[in-house]
Amino acid sequence: MTYQSINPADGKPGQSFETLSDAELETKLAAAEACFAKWRHKTYAERAAIISKAARLLHEEADRFANTMTLEMGKRVSEARGEVEFSSRILQYYADNAERFLAPVKLNPTHGEAHMESSPMGVIFGVEPWNFPYYQLARIAGPHLMAGNVLVVKHAGIVPQCALAFELLLTHAGAPAGLYTNLFVSHEQSERIMNDRRIKGVALTGSVAAGQSIAAGAGRNVKPSSMELGGADAFIVLEDADLEHAVKWAVWGRMYNAGQTCCASKRFIVVEQVADKFFEMFHAALGALRPGDPLDVNTALGPLSSEAALVQLLAQLEVATKNGAKVALGGRRYDRPGAYMQPTILTDVAPGNPAFRDEFFGPIAMFFRVRDEAEAIALASDSDFGLGGSVFTKDVARGKRVASQVETGMMFINNIDWSDAELPFGGIKDSGYGRELGNMGIQEFVNKKLVRTGHFDAPS
Ligand code: NAP
Repeated sequence: MTYQSINPADGKPGQSFETLSDAELETKLAAAEACFAKWRHKTYAERAAIISKAARLLHEEADRFANTMTLEMGKRVSEARGEVEFSSRILQYYADNAERFLAPVKLNPTHGEAHMESSPMGVIFGVEPWNFPYYQLARIAGPHLMAGNVLVVKHAGIVPQCALAFELLLTHAGAPAGLYTNLFVSHEQSERIMNDRRIKGVALTGSVAAGQSIAAGAGRNVKPSSMELGGADAFIVLEDADLEHAVKWAVWGRMYNAGQTCCASKRFIVVEQVADKFFEMFHAALGALRPGDPLDVNTALGPLSSEAALVQLLAQLEVATKNGAKVALGGRRYDRPGAYMQPTILTDVAPGNPAFRDEFFGPIAMFFRVRDEAEAIALASDSDFGLGGSVFTKDVARGKRVASQVETGMMFINNIDWSDAELPFGGIKDSGYGRELGNMGIQEFVNKKLVRTGHFDAPS
């Protein structure tokens, strides 16, 4: 297997990198373990000095980092810059807050005194996807390094230069050798890494198929794992919604990152009374988007991440239409070089259609009409996934009631502003388990140790 950059805007290959030999991999794992022996004893302030500096360097060189991302996976450069800045904020957030999050917690037993303390576990193995090439790395590096763990990371095969750029960022920030190690490894080597006694936990973000494989590997080795997998988020529009406001979010929610976001809005569920109006506005807004060079800040629609991603999406679309779905907009690739897909709306997706339960990882929106709020909630929850979802209504109390009833890990009312450093992120069902970001994100790979003191006599 090779790690290969290809510009999806024109199909031109960039740099490629060989996978590590087993001997090289062994050297890197040994360095990570050796680093942990020292890093675990550093103070929070010593760790924060490095993580903070990485945050600052990311911010200072946002354009350079963003361009690499755009050239490797096609993200529009304005979005790419936003991702770099957000990654910087995540690193800084954990540099600022880790000590507070992991401070000992006093308990109140009937006898004696007790507290819980948090200590690092060791070398954590991260496996990450291409769709947010830096944000995904910051989401594990910020919390886990600040907690005193060290990381070895397998990034996706199509973003090797982003993977190396992030590793170098930490080196430039003063990270000791072995603190954060990029691994160009095969899936088979990944399996062996999970079996390695030096690995103490596994964090994956990726597809359900990858989750099944990686979670099984972690489980076989009785190692803790967190799984951030796919999604088919519902976008519920109730009859009292502000439609102008909702449609703007609908377009952003489906089209941001060319539709390749785990928690993108994928199923648009609209109450009958406003369905025609919403559909008309949504259709017009998606239909107005024009493809262009993702390096141009004025471009409204970039390519998908790769030709393979586009081919897979078109194949899924074909299955959907063969099973009765109708294409109300788009449905084809653009007749131009690069992996460009037309914004697409599918209607008439019946429960027996494979599309009904699929994740479309690209600019394909499924549109459903429902009678009322109750039917909207039932349809939103009728999914194998359970990542996020949103509800649009002028009545916030009603929005909260609906949010509580939909079976997902996250719900958003009148917005889908998915991710903040301060807020936990994650799902249920096939969307995985565990949480990243916020206070919860740093608790995933720490030993929660009970310490109890008491001078009472042993039972006779
Ligand atoms: P993917 O094919 O599952 O790949 C994700 C990562 O897992 C890549 O590094 C991939 O490496 C690796 N991988 C896959 N199978 C593996 C195996 N058997 N052993 C070791 N490594 C393996 O997913 P993707 O298509 O790149 O990403 C899109 C998916 O990620 C979508 O389903 C999306 O919803 C999900 N996602 C979820 C979140 C979240 O937070 N919940 C965030 C972003 C994306 P290779 O590239 O070398 O195959």
